Amino acid sequence: MKKGWAAVSDFDGTITLRDVGDHLLLYYGFSDKKTIEASYSLKVRVEDFMKRAFAGAGLSERTIAAFVRSRVRTRAGFTAFVRFCGRNKIPFEIASGGIDLYAGPFFKKHGLRVKSFFGRARVVKGGIKITYPFLKRTNLSLFKASRVKRLKRAGHKVVFFGDGPNDLKAAALADRVYAAGRLYRLCRERGIPASPLKDFSRAVSFLRKKRSEPCTR
Ligand SMILES: [Mg+2]
Repeated sequence: MKKGWAAVSDFDGTITLRDVGDHLLLYYGFSDKKTIEASYSLKVRVEDFMKRAFAGAGLSERTIAAFVRSRVRTRAGFTAFVRFCGRNKIPFEIASGGIDLYAGPFFKKHGLRVKSFFGRARVVKGGIKITYPFLKRTNLSLFKASRVKRLKRAGHKVVFFGDGPNDLKAAALADRVYAAGRLYRLCRERGIPASPLKDFSRAVSFLRKKRSEPCTR
C-alpha cells in the first residue's frame, strides 16, 4: 500500500551548520583538528570516537546548554520543515551519533519535538560518559540505514538528509537524498544521486510537489 513520503535526517552538520560535538571539543580544547579530521574516515565508527573524545571532556550540562543557545547555528528552513511534516503527516525522525546533552537544549531553543535517536550522555568525574542504547548489536551507520529501510518496508518513499561518511549507507537506500559536505562528495563519487543540502526549504518544495501529484509510482 502506498503511504507517501517520510523523512530521516542526521543531526550534526545537517540540521546544524557545524558538527556540535566537534565544535564543543574544539572550542573547549578537548580535541584538535587533526584528531577530528581522522574521525571522518569511513573506517572509524562515529560512536567509538564520541565515547573516547568525550570521556575526558570536563563539561557541565549547563555549559553545554549555554553553548547550544549561543553558538550553535541551525540550517535555514529546519523549523519550517518540521512544521510542514507535522501538518502533512509526513513521518520524520532523526538518527544521530550526537548526544542528548546538546540535542535537548537545541530542540528546547526551537520549541520543537521530533522523534529522535541520540546517544545518552552522563556527566561523570572528569568527563562525559556516552552510551547508545538504540545501537545494541549494530553500528551507527547501519542503524541509520535500518531506519530508512524500515520506513520503506512500511510502504513509504524516503527522503534522507546527511553530511557525513556514516550517512552513506542510509543515503544509498533513500529515494531522495539531500547531502552536505563529505556525504555530498561521497555520493557523487559513488554515483548515488544527491542534491546539495543548502537549506531545508528545497525539501519542502519537493515534498509539496509530490503531494499534489497523483498517487502512482
Ligand atoms: Mg553529521
